Amino acid sequence: MTPGPHEPEGLEKDGLRRFATIWSRAVYPVTQTSMTRAELEDYLHPLAVKLCDAIHEHPFSAAPGREVGVALVEGHCTSPDALPHLLGVIDAYLVLYGRDPANKNLSVEEARARCSRLQHTIAAGFTQALRDRTLGEQEALSRAALAAQTAVEEALHASETRFRAVFNDATIGISIADMDGRIRDANETVARMFGRSVEEMRRRNVNEWVHPDDAPEVWKQHRQLVRGERDHFRVEKPYQRPDGTVLWTNLTVSLLRDPEGEPRYQLALLEDITERRLLHLRLRYEATHDELTGLPNRTLFAERLDRLLSASGGVKRFGLCYLDIDGFKAVNDSLGHAVGDQLLVAVAERLQSCTAGSGHLVARIGGDEFAALVTDPSGPEDVAELARQVLAALATPIGIDGRELSVRASIGIVEGPSGELRPEEVMRSADITMYRAKDAGGNRYELADPDSDARAIDRHSLTNHLPAALERDEFFLEYQPLIRMSDGHVDGAEALVRWKHPVHGRLGPDRFIPLAEHTGLIVPLGRWVMEQAVRQACAWHEQRDAEKVKGAAAEAPLRVNVNLSPRQLHHPDLVPDTVAVLEAAGMAPSSLCLEVTESALIGADEDELKPLRQLAELGVEIALDDFGTGYSNLANLRRLPATTLKLDRSFTRGLQQHPADPVDVTFVEGIVTLAHALGLAVTVEGVETEHQASQLREMGCDTAQGWYYARPGPASTFQHGFAVTP
Ligand code: C2E
Ligand code: MG
Ligand code: MG
Repeated sequence: MTPGPHEPEGLEKDGLRRFATIWSRAVYPVTQTSMTRAELEDYLHPLAVKLCDAIHEHPFSAAPGREVGVALVEGHCTSPDALPHLLGVIDAYLVLYGRDPANKNLSVEEARARCSRLQHTIAAGFTQALRDRTLGEQEALSRAALAAQTAVEEALHASETRFRAVFNDATIGISIADMDGRIRDANETVARMFGRSVEEMRRRNVNEWVHPDDAPEVWKQHRQLVRGERDHFRVEKPYQRPDGTVLWTNLTVSLLRDPEGEPRYQLALLEDITERRLLHLRLRYEATHDELTGLPNRTLFAERLDRLLSASGGVKRFGLCYLDIDGFKAVNDSLGHAVGDQLLVAVAERLQSCTAGSGHLVARIGGDEFAALVTDPSGPEDVAELARQVLAALATPIGIDGRELSVRASIGIVEGPSGELRPEEVMRSADITMYRAKDAGGNRYELADPDSDARAIDRHSLTNHLPAALERDEFFLEYQPLIRMSDGHVDGAEALVRWKHPVHGRLGPDRFIPLAEHTGLIVPLGRWVMEQAVRQACAWHEQRDAEKVKGAAAEAPLRVNVNLSPRQLHHPDLVPDTVAVLEAAGMAPSSLCLEVTESALIGADEDELKPLRQLAELGVEIALDDFGTGYSNLANLRRLPATTLKLDRSFTRGLQQHPADPVDVTFVEGIVTLAHALGLAVTVEGVETEHQASQLREMGCDTAQGWYYARPGPASTFQHGFAVTP
């Protein structure tokens, strides 16, 4: 490879360099060398020198040609086209550029002959070297292949070992079965779970493991897997153990296919969930049963009702007895919770005894409420019969702590076809009907009927819409004059609230005041009424002053009466709110009269009367409304801060007839005398006839209110004077 001893000089040296250039240009495109072309030229130049030396050597030897051939292969001039190019260039240019002018003995013909012999040896060396190299490469390849195979085998072995380790030590049960279900392998865990040995497991077939509690889809999915239609499925599945206990598992079965995609094995992974399931069942039991009585609770009851009512439940009709113990609160309050609890337990037992063996569900819905759910009754009478039995069973006294308690209850019955009502509708209807039984005196059952339901539901929807109604300004006031009996002039007016309901039209206070009282909305509503009424009273005052100036008959009311309901009475802001309203309007307290029902004050202690007393001290008038309808305690009158008694309409009614009811006459006379003795004025309500009016005036009543004078109407009625004949 290194240049020979012949050091070319001068022209020869330049010639060989040019040869190397030509040679490299011709060869470069067909080599696989990583050298640049310039580098290749440098690489070829010594070879050219060697060949040139060989031509001029004496005696001639073609052997260096072989070395050059080998060198060319080592220089990666090895593509199939390389050799002809290599030789072609030597043939055409070597003699031309490699001639040694000093060697006069060598003719051109001789030089050519030597050159072609060199070409032969170059070719031979080249071919030999190429073959050697290919063989070497092949050998390296097969060595590498061999090494790779060993590595693969080792890896396979390692993964097989790993798999075995996983298989054997897994805390999850693993078993592999063929497509006929024969178990080929099972790990220790699965054997332990099944209470068998691995060998025993290997003798089993998965198709034997049918359990009565299997979910219906288990075996369907398994068949699909075996047919290759699905690749895995996951279910909760029970297995019978040899000792009779049941193993519950989370089972995942996967299909293993061969390289052609044909199903080969079924791989089952089993997780033991027996404990978890027991815990779940216990929690579920606790979540669905009442601790005290052991009966199903509201949750379970709701689930059953849901199922019974769904059209798909396969049941034609349903029946529900909704029961509430009458006066249970009194038992609890007077005898204590322990006795109350024992009573509930006893009631639960009685209820169960009535339904034993019938398949009906008895549940404790909460507090002292129970329910019995009847599946597929033949009609309402069936359910009513159960209600009668229940009431009879409860009527037999229950002995608790040496006391004999007899239990009364109110039952609401709903019965009907499945698939029509929603559970909440049924429950609402049952609740409404139960309250109807209670209102009718209790210790009875009532059957649900759509009309009473509608009325109650109406009440329900009114209640829901009350708050928005106040915001939307749907309330308005009417005023009814209070007439001074001595001269027939208007003394004051009572403000009466109405609701302009967007759907139901005009609603009277009896429809919504009790609801507002119940929900607490009466407080803001009452404040609104007071503001409006006081503002109206101010307007009337101004009107009066103006009329006085004009010398007209002044008939605008001097005072406005505002009704207060019990809840307002006990609201801490009553006094400050009232004062604020009066101050805002700039009105004297004596121009406001607050009407309070007598019943709201019964049993009120001094603390509870304090706000009213404060208002009275400020100068606000206080009237006792509907007097005579409650448990009137005349002795009580003395300590109340009232200034007026408003005698209820029920007394004046007796005076309408001819001759007047003597009892009512006596009563009214007595009240008037007593009231006057206590310094109270008397107003009579419900004066509808002239006869009543004159009688009441004779009896000494101070003020009167009623249709005879005027029905409640808009404030403007008073604007143009109010002509009343006494
Ligand atoms: P109340 O305070 O006893 O009001 C008198 C009721 O008797 C009014 O009924 C009035 O329209 C009616 N009335 C007046 N004269 C006659 C008559 O000659 N014959 C008959 N048969 N009835 C007559 P209304 O307006 O339906 O009010 C009913 C009750 O609603 C009131 O009874 C009052 O307790 C309550 N109420 C009215 N407005 C309010 C209010 O703003 N707040 C509160 N808390 N309750 C109110
Ligand atoms: Mg009133
Ligand atoms: Mg009244």
